[in-house]
Amino acid sequence: MENNSAWERITETECNDPFVTSLIMAKTYSFGNRFVAPAFRRAINDILVRYVSTFTLIPMDIVQLTCWVFEHIPSDRPLLQLLVNQFCEDWDDYYDEEENYDALKLLPQAFTIRVLKRHSHSKINREAEASKCCFYEHASDEEKASCGKSHMVYKAHEGYGYFQ
Ligand SMILES: [Zn+2]
Repeated sequence: MENNSAWERITETECNDPFVTSLIMAKTYSFGNRFVAPAFRRAINDILVRYVSTFTLIPMDIVQLTCWVFEHIPSDRPLLQLLVNQFCEDWDDYYDEEENYDALKLLPQAFTIRVLKRHSHSKINREAEASKCCFYEHASDEEKASCGKSHMVYKAHEGYGYFQ
């Protein structure tokens, strides 16, 4: 993004980490917010939203930014929901590193609640899928195979059960 080098000049950082740059932008937004400068605040928000939208939000990259934003920026601002919605779009099994699961535990509770809420909104699509999941503990592999449904494989480092 063209504004990036300008941000680096202003903040005297040579920043290769877009999330550090995003954090500086968020602090600038907060400054505009505290000093009741709505036009300035909106302008920074526009830049920040465009900037963040160009990156993939995975837990290990967004902990610092997300913790800061959720602690310092009012809950009713769209920026908080952008982080949640984009995170729900971006993060999937492709990013399987253990660091990501460690980072999940550091994300703010308010962020996690919004993620849960967003997933519950997409429930309708998952109802058909849910009817194919078996939650029984079968006595044998033969019995399991004859069941015809999908069975859970628990991944300990993710703390999550997948059906396959
Ligand atoms: Zn079964």
